[in-house]
Amino acid sequence: MAILDILLYPDERLRTVAKPVDTVDKDLQKFLDDMFETMYKAPGIGLAATQVNMHKRAVVIDVSEDKNEPLVLINPEILTKEGKITGEEGCLSIPGIYDNVSRAERITFQALDRDGNPYEMEADGLLGVCVQHEVDHLDGKMFVDYLSAMKRRKINKKIQKNTLRTSN
Ligand code: ZN
Repeated sequence: MAILDILLYPDERLRTVAKPVDTVDKDLQKFLDDMFETMYKAPGIGLAATQVNMHKRAVVIDVSEDKNEPLVLINPEILTKEGKITGEEGCLSIPGIYDNVSRAERITFQALDRDGNPYEMEADGLLGVCVQHEVDHLDGKMFVDYLSAMKRRKINKKIQKNTLRTSN
């Protein structure tokens, strides 16, 4: 297994719309294993292929406390959305930035698992939010896009400052 490099906002490659996966093969499974390792090490609860510069519709998630409930979503599609929930979100591609985002409270989605078998699932709470956040990545969207222009400007300024600091 290997740790993959995570693209950092505002890297334009994070804006790429990912292409559907045609075949679930050994190469993809190895890539998914690397994504899990990268996500657990970060540490994070979700990672989209887009974030490691692979523009295919694949996501890994584990919202469990003990990090023992890995969930693979290949070609995920959100089928239904219900209610509204607002909570603080962060992102491995925007380290150190957290803000409130409104999402659907309950969703159903379909996807393929690690073996290419289709499944349908209902998700709410943290898992529901995480699925919505990761599927956004596959469409080139990030949680800061939901914030006001003023908040985004502030975040951009903070990131610029951090970049200057690390390059000095
Ligand atoms: Zn993210």
